[in-house]
Amino acid sequence: MSLVSLTEESVPDGLIGDAGRLRQILINLVGNAMKFTEQGEIKLVVTPEEMGKDRARIRFSVSDTGIGIPKDQLARIFGAFEQADPSIHRKYGGTGLGLAISSRLVSLMSGRIWAESELGRGSTFHFHAEFPYAEQAAAQPEKIEASGEGSVRQLRILVAEDHPVNQRVIQKLLNIRGHSVTLVPDGEAAVDQWAPGYFDLVLMDLQMPRLDGLQAARAIRAREQDSAAQSRVPIYALSAKAFPEDARECLSAGMDGHLTKPITADALDKVLASVG
Ligand code: ADP
Repeated sequence: MSLVSLTEESVPDGLIGDAGRLRQILINLVGNAMKFTEQGEIKLVVTPEEMGKDRARIRFSVSDTGIGIPKDQLARIFGAFEQADPSIHRKYGGTGLGLAISSRLVSLMSGRIWAESELGRGSTFHFHAEFPYAEQAAAQPEKIEASGEGSVRQLRILVAEDHPVNQRVIQKLLNIRGHSVTLVPDGEAAVDQWAPGYFDLVLMDLQMPRLDGLQAARAIRAREQDSAAQSRVPIYALSAKAFPEDARECLSAGMDGHLTKPITADALDKVLASVG
C-alpha cells in the first residue's frame, strides 16, 4: 500500500489556521484510510476551492482503495460511536469517535466534512475549511486563533485494565482531555487490538487475567518487529506500587515508563505531553 500527498501549486502559502486541529483531522482520516485498506493507494489532495477577498476555502480529500462504506451508512458514520457495521468493530476495533470529533473540528473552522464511497472499491473523505490570508490576519490579530502551539493533539490511546473502577477513572481522565480511548480488560485483548501505527499510546495495567501487562508489552514489541510499518508505540505501565525492581522489569519488557496508581492528573499529563 502506498501513501501519496499532493498539494496543488495554487494553494496560497500565507494562510493562518490552527495547525493542531488540522493535523488532528488529517491524522484521523489518513489513519482510517490505512486501517481499512489492505492494498492500493491512499492519497491526500489539497486544492483551493474558493479564493475570497480576505480568506481562502481549501479542500482536503483523503481517498483510499479499501473496503468502502455502504451508501446507507455514509451519513451516519459522522455521529458519535457509529461504525458502519458491527463486524467492523470485531475486525478493526476503534471507538466510532474519530469522525465525530473530526466533524466537530471542521465545523469550528467554518467548514463541512462529507464522504463518498463504493463498497469494495474505496472511499474518499473530503472536508473544506476557511483560512484567512496572513496579511489580513496581521491587520486583525484579535480574531486569529493561536496556531499549532498549545493545541492538544487528540491521541488514540489503548488502555488495558481489568478493574471496572480504574477503567472508569482512566477513561474519564482521558476523555475530558479530548483523547479517544479503546478499553480492553486483559493483556490478550490489548495485543489483539494493537495494529501497526494505530495507537499513539498504550497504558497497561500490570496484573491482568490471561496475559499480564509485561507479557502483553513483550508481545506488542514482537509484533512491531514483525510488521513492515516500523512503528513503535509508547507503552506505560499502570502499577499499584512503585518499587525500583518493578520499574526495571517494565523497561526490560519494552515499556517506556510507568504511572503509579491512583493516577494523578499531573503524572498523566506529563506522559500525554511526551507523546503528543
Ligand atoms: P473508528 O474508531 O471506529 O474508526 P471513526 O469515527 O473514525 O471511528 O469511523 C467510524 C466508522 O466509519 C468506522 O468504524 C468504519 O466503519 C467507517 N470508516 C471510516 N473511515 C473509513 C474508510 N476510510 N473506509 C471504510 N470505512 C471507514
